[in-house]
Amino acid sequence: MNKDINPGDYRVDGSGPFVIADHPTRVESFYKDKSDYKKQMKDSRKEMNELQEMMYAHDRYSILCIFQAMDAAGKDGTIRKVMSGINPHGVSVHSFKRPTEEEIDHEFLWRSQDHLPRRGHISIFNRSYYEEVLVVKVHPEIVRNYQRLPEENLEEVWKGRYASIRDHEAHLVRNGTRVLKFFLNLGKDEQRDRFVARIDEQEKNWKFNEGDLKERGFWGDYQTAYEEAINETATLNAPWYVIPANDKKNTRIIVSNIIRKEMESLDIEYPQVSDERRAELLEYRAGLLKEV
Ligand code: ATP
Ligand code: MG
Repeated sequence: MNKDINPGDYRVDGSGPFVIADHPTRVESFYKDKSDYKKQMKDSRKEMNELQEMMYAHDRYSILCIFQAMDAAGKDGTIRKVMSGINPHGVSVHSFKRPTEEEIDHEFLWRSQDHLPRRGHISIFNRSYYEEVLVVKVHPEIVRNYQRLPEENLEEVWKGRYASIRDHEAHLVRNGTRVLKFFLNLGKDEQRDRFVARIDEQEKNWKFNEGDLKERGFWGDYQTAYEEAINETATLNAPWYVIPANDKKNTRIIVSNIIRKEMESLDIEYPQVSDERRAELLEYRAGLLKEV
């Protein structure tokens, strides 16, 4: 309890093979009780808010956080709880749904370009271009029926996409964007319990979607697709973080700590004011005070 969270415990950076079954969906709790959880989240948000302001003033780095997971793993809630409290001018969240006609008419990275973070800002992707090697790989008819690619060999399509993603993320990192990718690792039984709760608790009925049940039927294929995608795209500079997701509060505390620690690791400071500029400012000050 209140143990220090070590991002390295969750990081997958390509230095060894990633085996999804070796990663827990639940770990010992990092909070004593609900009020301790709330306090930890509040403290973390406050620090993140200050760090984001400094990032903005320093105007060199940005952060991209990508969230991927099975349905009901808690992506939305995690994003909301981790990021609320940060200056809304400094953060943007974008959810990637099924591509529109216009999006399908472009290559698969195109639609994320406008949502990448500006310098000094944080962008959150709720789902992302990774869907192109997850849901689309589980349902390859999407490629055949809609995507109109020159390459017909699907194995080549996936290989090409992994390469494009690695190159794209390396490019972002070279240009000042830190890339953090979170896989919220939910257990299959826990997903069932959350779906049942969406039926049992009336105020959650709106969240229930029979389409999610259909995807649950492909659980094994998704696990395989995640394992391969993470193995193919985890790099030292753009690592994945595999987060135990069966306990929502724990998930949020862990994610919040990882993002905050990444921000702390940035070499940033408020711009220094030169002596000349300081003298100028004092002249303006004197002028203002002389106003009648
Ligand atoms: P919530 O259900 O909490 O609102 P969500 O992210 O599940 O959030 P939905 O509208 O239910 O939102 O689902 C979006 C769907 O779009 C998902 O099933 C996802 O797999 C699909 N999707 C996203 N990107 C792509 C893509 N590139 N190709 C095909 N399907 C995609
Ligand atoms: Mg959904």
